Amino acid sequence: MTAVKVDLHLHSTCSDGRLNPTQLVELVGGKQLSVMALTDHDSTDGMVEALEAVIKFPDLSIIPGVELSTDVPGNEIHMLGYFINYNDDKFQSTLHKFREGRIGRAQEMVSKLANLGLPVRWERVLELADGAVGRPHIAQAMVEMGYIKYPQEAFVKYLGREGLAYAEREKLTPADSVALITGVGGIPVLAHPREVDNVEQYIPELKEAGLVGIEVYCAGYSPKEVIQLETLANKEGLIPCGGSDYHALGTPGEYLPGDVGPSLGITDELYAIAKQINLK
Ligand code: AMP
Ligand code: ZN
Ligand code: FE
Ligand code: FE
Repeated sequence: MTAVKVDLHLHSTCSDGRLNPTQLVELVGGKQLSVMALTDHDSTDGMVEALEAVIKFPDLSIIPGVELSTDVPGNEIHMLGYFINYNDDKFQSTLHKFREGRIGRAQEMVSKLANLGLPVRWERVLELADGAVGRPHIAQAMVEMGYIKYPQEAFVKYLGREGLAYAEREKLTPADSVALITGVGGIPVLAHPREVDNVEQYIPELKEAGLVGIEVYCAGYSPKEVIQLETLANKEGLIPCGGSDYHALGTPGEYLPGDVGPSLGITDELYAIAKQINLK
């Protein structure tokens, strides 16, 4: 097997990752990857620091990215945006609004936990979140309180969609997220599609909205699932992307940067499309 040189799905402390952008770039650079995308939830705040850190690694390029959460009935679809013009003021104020929505919703979950007899301090959750606050920060606070051993345990019973302490926030529709990304010159890519029931049903509408790619090479996907997704991408004319979705949670079995990802040829295609968009 040829070594993976590309990881297009990585989180930092600007959302729910636990390495700051410098630490993340140093880890990825140390693994001799050629291309990485920084894809924090609702934030591009790590880009400046990441671009500074990558100077030390002349063979590594960083694609500016973002990951947006969207709702469909009974499920959640995540949309990645690559090569976004993150200096756009309107785009930044939209991301800011999403992050504000995350705060209210996290407070609601913390209060539900307290009612369940599992109090965590709200100040602690905020301390754990340098950027966009998310459920993993609440899960971490629960680990610290000794309620659970690993963050993912919190999702099963409490913080997952069906969990006892789950709270909603207002989210985009998937098609709106595609439009938001293309509106700032970005390339929309449907994230971890196997996490969505019958994801195929959404693809025609999303393609219509401007979807360009779909993740195929994802953490934990079996060879059979990868082949099925490659076939789907091929049939739909979507670029097969992917990456580790690394958060540095330190949980057993966590995929590391470079453990999974698309070929270098795929990033050539993405760079070519980004160039075309910029020429327009
Ligand atoms: P949020 O952005 O607050 O909706 O939280 C979503 C994030 O929580 C995802 O991006 C993952 O990082 C994490 N997550 C979601 N489901 C699980 C799970 N079952 N186990 C561990 N982490 C999860
Ligand atoms: Zn995350
Ligand atoms: Fe995601
Ligand atoms: Fe992610």
